[in-house]
Amino acid sequence: MSTTRRLPVVATLPRSLYLETTNRCDSKCRTCIRTFQSLEPPADLTLEQVKAIAEQFPVLERVVLHGIGEPLLNVEIFEIVVHLKTRAATVLFNSDAISLTAKRALRLIESGLDEYRVSMDAATRQTYRKLRGVDQFDRVVANVRRLVELERERSRSAPRVSLWFTASRANLHELPAFVRLAADLGVDEVYVQRLVFNGLGLATAENALHGRLQQQEQDVLDQAQELAGGLGLALRASGLTTPLASLKGEMSSPRPWAGCQRPWTLSPVEHLTTDMLSFPHEPKPPQVIRP
Ligand code: SF4
Repeated sequence: MSTTRRLPVVATLPRSLYLETTNRCDSKCRTCIRTFQSLEPPADLTLEQVKAIAEQFPVLERVVLHGIGEPLLNVEIFEIVVHLKTRAATVLFNSDAISLTAKRALRLIESGLDEYRVSMDAATRQTYRKLRGVDQFDRVVANVRRLVELERERSRSAPRVSLWFTASRANLHELPAFVRLAADLGVDEVYVQRLVFNGLGLATAENALHGRLQQQEQDVLDQAQELAGGLGLALRASGLTTPLASLKGEMSSPRPWAGCQRPWTLSPVEHLTTDMLSFPHEPKPPQVIRP
């Protein structure tokens, strides 16, 4: 969490943009609200829509192309990345990698994408199916292995591939094996995320680890961290802390969210309405957000 002081009024337009490039998905994660509720009709952002949105931000540093949905299902995703790379230094997205065929892997490499984050959550087929609702573990493993090999063959370092693990009581025991799997695939970054629970499916308070780690679970985290170090792999939590620190949930302040800079620097576009696309193509005044 940044400790930079937040100004009472946002002085400049956001330089970071989150675009939900599709709300369709080929997974059925038991921890995802999308699996249990359809909140909006299926839709993809088109390249033209992305251009219209992006040109309203004079300076863009980072564009993230995922929301709730699988970006690879958007047939224009590669053209969208190519376009955004003319505007922003960093373009990235999370993916379940189920539809990452050899052809798509090559297009991903050629698009200039900076980071490709694979959400897997499991080191075995059984746990993958239990958490992600589809029997696609072997396919995802093969797809990621091929992407890494294609990059190596071409001496390319982008997209930077990482594996992501939403830790819960349903899968923490597999974290050391997940680290080994990453090493086997040639992936050198593993990220652990906290489970956000809403009471649906496996997203329950009982499954959550944040702030309620037991000694046995801390031992698993220590074991995974040591293993990662030995394999030359980075094991982190989002926010660039360690998984143990993130899941322990030690709060340095009674209002830890108060330092969050995101509303001051970031603009999310989660689904489009006609109104959003009809605004004039010129920078709008910054949205004034008070803490
Ligand atoms: S891959 Fe993402 S959007 Fe799709 S079901 Fe899983 S968590 Fe939800």
